[in-house]
Amino acid sequence: MAIDKGQISRNMYRDLAAIESELPREWAISDQRMQINKEMRNRIKITTINMPSCNNLDLNENPDIFDPEVVKEVITSIGKGGQRSIKDILRFIVPSLVERKILDLQRPIIYLKISGDSRNVGRKVKHVMVTFAIMDDITNLHRPDHHHTLVLYPGCENYDSLSVALSLLRTELRKLSEIGINIIGVNWIINLYFSSDWKFLSICCLGFNSANSQFFCPWCGISKKQVADLGKQWSISKEMSELKANCNTYDGHHSMPLFDMISLDH
Ligand SMILES: [Zn+2]
Repeated sequence: MAIDKGQISRNMYRDLAAIESELPREWAISDQRMQINKEMRNRIKITTINMPSCNNLDLNENPDIFDPEVVKEVITSIGKGGQRSIKDILRFIVPSLVERKILDLQRPIIYLKISGDSRNVGRKVKHVMVTFAIMDDITNLHRPDHHHTLVLYPGCENYDSLSVALSLLRTELRKLSEIGINIIGVNWIINLYFSSDWKFLSICCLGFNSANSQFFCPWCGISKKQVADLGKQWSISKEMSELKANCNTYDGHHSMPLFDMISLDH
């Protein structure tokens, strides 16, 4: 845990273990790590996604991650994404949430939040990640290790890449929102929410304009000209069901929304 949390490299740890005889040897840690990975892979499978190529990277943006080891690994895995089934993860975590009295068998509703964002890894590539968290678990909601990774790929943060990467997740979310999921003999109702920055929500997930367009608001039909009109009543006037039926219903929308199973007021 200390190695992972403190980001201590294998070589560094070898040096530490050489001067401190009570520390387990590096190979023993590696063995243990492999065993944990194997056990987790059996319970929650990681499958790969073939990603479309992506050439329009913005080299003017500053890197968020510099670690050369990470940058190298990410660059060599371009073209491949990883994904895990949200159902597998729910089956794994719900029993412990029930045990901790976060979820209640008598009131089987789960408030679930999907999030997405990207980071620049070095100057050449973005790492795009989609995660989920259980909103009922309020005390842990802002802790990274309670955000479970669903999709992770090196490449572009755009609509085309995400529509490929999110294929399995969208099928599963549609089922979860329609029929729920049976875990430990109980049928759980899943209430879906979504949270991300403007770019990820608007361009990537709604198939909608960018923030500096004539029609820019994901929630209503306001145009740039009306921005200063304080006399107008603003409300969430767009409906996901309308977008689902025809993505050109509202000005500025060009593609089908990717999370069409999550309503716009969520
Ligand atoms: Zn608006």
